Amino acid sequence: MIRFFLFLPFLFFFEVQSQTLNFSKYVDTLCSNYFMGRGYVNDGHLKTANFLEEKFKEINLEPLNKDRFTQDFNINVNTFPNSVELKLDGKSLIPGRDFMISPQSRGLEGSFNVIKVDLNNWSSILKNNKVNNQCIISLNISKILDIDTISMYKELRNLLNKSFPILWISSEKLQWSVADYLSNHPMIKIASKSVNYDFTTVQLNIEQKFQKSLKTQNVLGMVSGRKKKSIIISAHYDHLGMMGQVKFPGANDNASGVSLLLNLASYYSINPHKYNIIFICFGAEEAGLKGSKYFTEHPLLDLKKVSFLINLDIVGTGEEGIAIVNALEEKKAAKKIGKINTRSNYFNKIKIRGQSPNSDHYWFSHYQVPSIFIYTMGGIQAYHDPLDKSETLPLNKIEDLYHLIIDFISGF
Ligand SMILES: [Zn+2]
Repeated sequence: MIRFFLFLPFLFFFEVQSQTLNFSKYVDTLCSNYFMGRGYVNDGHLKTANFLEEKFKEINLEPLNKDRFTQDFNINVNTFPNSVELKLDGKSLIPGRDFMISPQSRGLEGSFNVIKVDLNNWSSILKNNKVNNQCIISLNISKILDIDTISMYKELRNLLNKSFPILWISSEKLQWSVADYLSNHPMIKIASKSVNYDFTTVQLNIEQKFQKSLKTQNVLGMVSGRKKKSIIISAHYDHLGMMGQVKFPGANDNASGVSLLLNLASYYSINPHKYNIIFICFGAEEAGLKGSKYFTEHPLLDLKKVSFLINLDIVGTGEEGIAIVNALEEKKAAKKIGKINTRSNYFNKIKIRGQSPNSDHYWFSHYQVPSIFIYTMGGIQAYHDPLDKSETLPLNKIEDLYHLIIDFISGF
């Protein structure tokens, strides 16, 4: 009993030094309407960066860019700020569910006759001069099963899209992305389950705006250590934004990673490491890894003194474990993570992967900074669609990943 009371002040001390973990609150906030899908409609990206800067200040991070928490850079980006409407024979389809506008599409308004083509008839139909500017070409691959034929159709689609607007009807999952270029004509992808293929007319109202050299930003902060070396934890904050009125909340991709990063920032703010721990929320990842590319080309610290980078992108599930991209290049680190996981039983599986330019770690490994990218596996499959929302994201393993990362960094 006496021994227990002797320990009480220490327990109290420990209590004061610990933080309240909060994963879902950050995810909910970042997915709320105010941030507009964290894209380039109604300044979603800028509002998110401002929010993160305020959080970094609250957490007591130090700025990395002199006295600033942001690093500006410019991107080209195609956007759909207003109407995105499609009617087939007068019947409205629901954007985001029944169809997606390809992100590089030009806007278009009007009524069009549908010209249905396939691999066999397309050249004769186009030669016979039946096509004018009130026509839209339609290709239907919903019944085609073999990969070779589908890829031939895709080639034809891309060829025809240089001269005509295209409807592309397919049973493939509808996904959206961000384009930094503009095509000559729109391409509209339609879910085959949403249509009968007997329609003959199309009404379109697509408003589109290409934003050239738009200013966007990375958000960066630091907890200083005693030594000159640094460890970077990164997570991109941007997502796809809006396609007309359709919002892409991006809960798993990547509000989850940003939430984990903010919780880790709070931890290291209270429990500094001997190395500098640097936190970077990259912008414009979805537009082609633009923020991390800019940072590595204009680094705010000596990249040679970065001992390691952990990039977090899509970490809201985990029923089937985690994957580590670049693990084959960083064998020692991957082995260490495996050992920690076996000891503490955080995840039932760790999948080892090689290099891939699929998230922001890529540019760091390109410049010889030891880097890995961690994502979680299993659970909800929503990805780059309106269903990637906070209400259904489990976040049931994110605390395990938080502890795994802290255990791993403690070994440096
Ligand atoms: Zn992502």
